[in-house]
Amino acid sequence: MGGLSGAPDATITPRPGPGVCPACFNFMVPGERRCRACRAHPQLLSVMAAVAYAPGGGWLHRRLADYKRASEPAVPDLAIELAGLLSRFLGGHEACLATAAGVAGFDIVAAVPSGDARRDRIHPLRRLVAERVPEVGGRYRHLLSTGVQSAAPRRFDPRRFVVIEDPARANVLLIDDVWTTGATAQSAAAALLAAGAAGVGVLVIGRYVNGSWGGISRRLSELASGGSPDRCAHCPASRTGTHSVGSRSMGPSDWPAPSAGISA
Ligand SMILES: [Zn+2]
Ligand SMILES: [Zn+2]
Repeated sequence: MGGLSGAPDATITPRPGPGVCPACFNFMVPGERRCRACRAHPQLLSVMAAVAYAPGGGWLHRRLADYKRASEPAVPDLAIELAGLLSRFLGGHEACLATAAGVAGFDIVAAVPSGDARRDRIHPLRRLVAERVPEVGGRYRHLLSTGVQSAAPRRFDPRRFVVIEDPARANVLLIDDVWTTGATAQSAAAALLAAGAAGVGVLVIGRYVNGSWGGISRRLSELASGGSPDRCAHCPASRTGTHSVGSRSMGPSDWPAPSAGISA
């Protein structure tokens, strides 16, 4: 995703590699099968992808936080910027996601609601996905609203969401702004699958990683230099562009502390 908005840390698309969780692209100790967060709750998504890494305190993380706090129409520039990221990714890689999910395509595109019911009423992400991303076309449906608010954040709990439209037998692509532990997206997927969706994949704008972990800049730049910026985590091998994460062997100083890769 080279050159997007000229923001360096918005241009690194999460991809598989040594020391990268294959399920959620968190950095982890090499050799582990899944990161700690992914081992902590059920894995229900047919595919997970992120437009870019969002290190805490970095450009994209700050933009997403600004957008979450704001209410439209106060933030049209931000909406255009974030919609552009989603649009470009879906235009280039939605087929990769569908193939990885084992489906011909996604019938429905839906947004993950805000955990805060009051904020969900103005839910800027929902409007952004429904109105500003041409690739979504007429597929947007308002499937989910905020459920039990006392549910602990970053814990898997399908009651956090209420399914308000029947997703019967549809393959759903959920869009969310940030992935931290995956508990939110997995909970939303559980609610939709229980309501009859055939499958649920997720695309997030920013894959949060701990910006204060010392090795983060080097790991991100290794990933950035190791492959074509126009490849996603699920691009087929035959597609033009190459991907390797580098051959330098990694030692303990390369690894995040057990809790460093996620904020909770
Ligand atoms: Zn993971
Ligand atoms: Zn791709």
